Amino acid sequence: NTLVTLENRPSGAVKVSDFGLKTEKVRELKNGEFLVNIEALSMDPAIRGWMNPGTTYIKGVELGTVMRSFSAGKVIDSKNDSFKVGVYVEGLLGAQTHAITDGTGIRIINVENSKLTHHLGVLGMPGMTAYFGLLRRGEPKPGEVIYVSAASGVVGSTVGQIAKIKGCTVIGSAGSEAKCKYLIDECGFDHAINYKTEDLDAKLKEYAPDGVHIFYDNVGGDTLNTALANLAQGARVVICGAISQYNDMGNIQGPANYMKIVTARGYMTGIIVFDFIKEWPAATKEIAGWIAEGKIHVKEDVVHGLENYTETLMMLFTGKNFGKLILTV
Ligand code: NDP
Repeated sequence: NTLVTLENRPSGAVKVSDFGLKTEKVRELKNGEFLVNIEALSMDPAIRGWMNPGTTYIKGVELGTVMRSFSAGKVIDSKNDSFKVGVYVEGLLGAQTHAITDGTGIRIINVENSKLTHHLGVLGMPGMTAYFGLLRRGEPKPGEVIYVSAASGVVGSTVGQIAKIKGCTVIGSAGSEAKCKYLIDECGFDHAINYKTEDLDAKLKEYAPDGVHIFYDNVGGDTLNTALANLAQGARVVICGAISQYNDMGNIQGPANYMKIVTARGYMTGIIVFDFIKEWPAATKEIAGWIAEGKIHVKEDVVHGLENYTETLMMLFTGKNFGKLILTV
């Protein structure tokens, strides 16, 4: 087994020296366990948070141990009747080539009708985040205007496309012309804002003159502050993530415009995808249906090799990834 371990807790951006790459012998299975040959890892912004000490919604990874990772692969040996040799599974199996598990929190996935990697993205944890964050927290209604930040990523693009299905006008922001073009041409967004070259506040006022009813935030910082200034009456602000702040969580920049929540009679709410875990199967089915109907477009950015773990993770924080970031093993 080759595994990526956490060797240092970074301050600021991650570095190659924060991780180790080790090889160990795969041990014998105990009764109830099975062995997974991992084919792909999901590279998630949350990994940066898991490198910090202490517990937020989940405990930080212990130094010297395998990095936590949503991974997917094939069962190649089993002493567990529920997970037979040959089935494909997905779950927190770690950043490694082989994982032994008793199956707790691991789900069997169907790789005949959908790609294995989709179960790490739009049909996995990030897709569930978009689905429940938008539908249960944002509560979109036909005719409303939604603005989603980091819109070209798996969470953002899925939020925007589900919002289109629900009859909303969708505005997305992203960090390049190519990403903005993708939002309009492939994802059917109504408006795209390149936050690096355009004035976000001016563009929101142009595209949503009466304000936005839902702000689905993946970025935090200045983006959050600017969006707050542009809320419609009764607006919902869904705090899903704050990727602009993850490298310095001890010093989070808060929004000076928060009093707009008062005058807009709005509310700000958080989403943790794991709170909806019992409902994931039904949501996965619905999203798979939308993909089959051509209503949701999926884009992946695939890098190969565990030795490229750090550089791949860094892509999320520089905007180098374009689509759901996957590391194949
Ligand atoms: P993405 O594929 O969207 O990748 C991250 C993107 O964020 C980058 O491509 C980049 O795009 C953008 N970005 C990076 N740094 C900055 C910055 N400083 N300012 C503005 N944009 C930046 O990732 P995901 O779709 O996987 O995740 C999106 C968000 O959802 C994250 O915040 C993540 O933490 C959150 N999340 C929350 C969950 C929950 O339960 N609450 C669960 C899963 C994810 P660009 O080129 O546009 O800058």
